[in-house]
Amino acid sequence: LSFEQLALNPTLLRAIERCGFKTPSEIQRQAIPLALEGRDLMASAQTGTGKTAAFVLPALERLLTPAAKGGIGPRVLVLTPTRELATQVSEAIASLGHFTRLSSGAVVGGMPYPPQQKLLRQPLDLLVATPGRLMDHMERGRVDFSRLELLVLDEADRMLDMGFVDAVERIAAATPNDRQTLLFSATFEGSVQRVVKRLLKDPVRVEI
Ligand code: AMP
Repeated sequence: LSFEQLALNPTLLRAIERCGFKTPSEIQRQAIPLALEGRDLMASAQTGTGKTAAFVLPALERLLTPAAKGGIGPRVLVLTPTRELATQVSEAIASLGHFTRLSSGAVVGGMPYPPQQKLLRQPLDLLVATPGRLMDHMERGRVDFSRLELLVLDEADRMLDMGFVDAVERIAAATPNDRQTLLFSATFEGSVQRVVKRLLKDPVRVEI
């Protein structure tokens, strides 16, 4: 199976080529078609498998069609456990979104607030965030999730181990009920299972 056969927009295929990716990885082959169909996914994949592109590509594909709802809030939200992982996701969005005009930004802990406040006041397609800092902004009424279509929980097991269970559930509760949700995790035990039950609708399980 090639990237062309995954039915991705030519704009994205050009960026994939520019990144030097020749063929989709196993997780990409399995997850991308299901994600493009709009299914909720619970996917087990470790770092190094190409899991980031497995959610970034369907996210970008979705964003190439106009928003159904008005507003300036993000249409895609990616939650990650750490600032470092948020940076990696942002870099993947920048490289795979190279030929698009989509806007993205990050809201993470350990960084100054004013640039993040400014970011959240501007129209945004994708937002990458760590849960604690995003909650801070939400409590100050600075986040508009009325347009949110896709929620991605990256490294969900790590995120929950770090004590972000309540934050993740409260953030999800602030987004529209008809959103799509993609969850990536090394395991599906304990609190991950609970989050799957509460936040995903009829999920397909993808294992590599
Ligand atoms: P990840 O598992 O998302 O952290 O990705 C691991 C590394 O694989 C990153 O450096 C990606 O740029 C790279 N990568 C992702 N997908 C592919 C692909 N289909 N072919 C070659 N490299 C890839």
